[in-house]
Amino acid sequence: MKIRRWHDGKVLAEQSLMDMAGYIGHRGDYHDIFLKWVQERQIPILMNSKVISYADTSPHPSLTLSTGQTISADLIIAADGIKSFARHLVLNTLDDPISSGYACFRAYFSPSPSMQSDPLLNTYLGNQDSVNFWIGPDMHVVQNTLRQGKEFNWILTHKDDGDIPESWFQPGDMNEVRKLVKDIDPEIRGIIMATGKCLDWKICYREPLKTWVSPEANRIVLLGDSCHAHLPTSAQGASQAVESAGVLGVCLGLIRGKEEVGVATRVYEKVRFPRTRVSQTHGEDLRDRWHNVLKEVGEDVEVDPEVVKIKNRPLYAFDAEQDARDKWEEVSARVKEEFARGKIEPLC
Ligand SMILES: Cc1cc2nc3c(=O)[nH]c(=O)nc-3n(C[C@H](O)[C@H](O)[C@H](O)COP(=O)(O)OP(=O)(O)OC[C@H]3O[C@@H](n4cnc5c(N)ncnc54)[C@H](O)[C@@H]3O)c2cc1C
Repeated sequence: MKIRRWHDGKVLAEQSLMDMAGYIGHRGDYHDIFLKWVQERQIPILMNSKVISYADTSPHPSLTLSTGQTISADLIIAADGIKSFARHLVLNTLDDPISSGYACFRAYFSPSPSMQSDPLLNTYLGNQDSVNFWIGPDMHVVQNTLRQGKEFNWILTHKDDGDIPESWFQPGDMNEVRKLVKDIDPEIRGIIMATGKCLDWKICYREPLKTWVSPEANRIVLLGDSCHAHLPTSAQGASQAVESAGVLGVCLGLIRGKEEVGVATRVYEKVRFPRTRVSQTHGEDLRDRWHNVLKEVGEDVEVDPEVVKIKNRPLYAFDAEQDARDKWEEVSARVKEEFARGKIEPLC
């Protein structure tokens, strides 16, 4: 993985993918792994089922779908993304995502044979997977190939003060993209300029929440972006969602019976909150370093590679499930004491 200077592609730093020994994966392939697991256990999946309300009742919370169907359970896990509707229940208020001040134009496509044979376009269309970043003042481009170079992805992050649209699939304006990349390294400029269409994706974030668990019965719990959204520069949002799911599973496995589901959910939020705050702030730190470093030094000054490197390595040597097991005794005792006092301490 190479981190390059915006206008000429000079390599400022080189490191292993996302600061780890890893692989580039397509999220569709990742989803398939989960889907297969669920199907093997014959767990039903209801598609096109919009949740329109939740009831935070004990011992069986419930939800209602837009079809009118009501479903109840011992526990509801609301992994409903950054625009989460379930958080309104937990917060007891309406809160909208906050614009981070940045947006991404994104494109993903299979390069045509003519693109692959054009020397002005094909520097990064090889048959090897590659990841490169071009960093410049208040902007950066990510390029990567997938599936042995058969597919190509670029993401241009830039300053933006537009409104947050309702749709995730807002078409992007390629003329705007072409203006933004007019002076980027020619070796990547060609393929971006030649791209036919892209998406315009606002980067939103949320302030840290005081709680991830429903207030009355403690049996509706937020998970993933609904409670700990990350900036893309963390490259951690989905990873942390999976860790959170693992920890919630451990906590549910450690209670003595269904009457203690609320203990499990409250331990889960206390264990996960500090960990996700660390990985969230990694993304903010990296974005600020990338977008500012070239404002501060002249062309002739060598940039210290450490200033532009991704510093996620400390996040990886961590076993989230073991961490939950290690903390269970102490944190579950604290939760029981808070229940006895009738006051759950806020996460922040
Ligand atoms: C540009 C970019 C790059 C990223 N790169 C990385 C990376 O390298 N590594 C990484 O780990 N993460 C990355 N992420 C973050 C990752 O995509 C998210 O953190 C992850 O998708 C969050 O998963 P989730 O399940 O919490 O939410 P989502 O993926 O948003 O899923 C929420 C689901 O809930 C459904 N839903 C919402 N409301 C309702 C409702 N009322 N009723 C029923 N269903 C509902 C939605 O349709 C959706 O299917 C990146 C994100 C962006 C934008």
